[in-house]
Amino acid sequence: MRRKLITELREKGIEQDKVLEAFDEVPRHYFLDEVFNHQAYSNIAFQIGAGQTISHPFTVAFQTELLNVERGDRILEIGTGSGFQTSILSALGARVVTIERQRELFLNAKRIIHRLGFTPKLFYGDGYKGKVTYAPYDSIIVTCGAPFLPEDLKKQVKIGGRIVIPIGKGDQQIMTTFDRIDENEWDVKEYGDFSFVPMLKNTAR
Ligand code: SAH
Repeated sequence: MRRKLITELREKGIEQDKVLEAFDEVPRHYFLDEVFNHQAYSNIAFQIGAGQTISHPFTVAFQTELLNVERGDRILEIGTGSGFQTSILSALGARVVTIERQRELFLNAKRIIHRLGFTPKLFYGDGYKGKVTYAPYDSIIVTCGAPFLPEDLKKQVKIGGRIVIPIGKGDQQIMTTFDRIDENEWDVKEYGDFSFVPMLKNTAR
């Protein structure tokens, strides 16, 4: 089933072999409730509890490809959710720092990711603030629909780095990349419509 999904991702336009190999390495069914096991490798999104969803495999692959991940890259992820995207980035050899605002999901993702043997740094907190402790990042990925590009994230990506973020106020967002050319100079590109759960202000302490 995993191989079939990889073929499908390739047909839909995912080109980087290393991204497809990461999909081969990470068992998506570990991240879903058992009742969904038989559909874990279909290109669909699922509820993961707390009103949130694990993204479509294509969306995960698409965002990952936009990150141009190199082994050893330090990557900040906002919205750990199920932990699937975190694991894909870890499988690519990135040093991942990831933030989730819902405690239940944070704890669950942590358990599964560790069970798979990956060692990202996981935090329960507010993604709008990023994680300055480990900045600057080679790249930043936001996996919830953001109303705007948060100021703190802009400061935490290195010059020459990239932020991949779906931007939009409603149910639909436009996948956008911000390449940091210089201190205050950004090259912005758009990649079409996607649909993520909204990025919410955090109440975590
Ligand atoms: N990368 C995830 C996608 C999960 S959906 C995966 O592979 O499964 C997006 C997640 O972003 C949800 O879990 C939601 O709780 C979280 N989120 C929303 N607003 C946030 C914020 N301000 N800070 C951190 N996480 C946030």
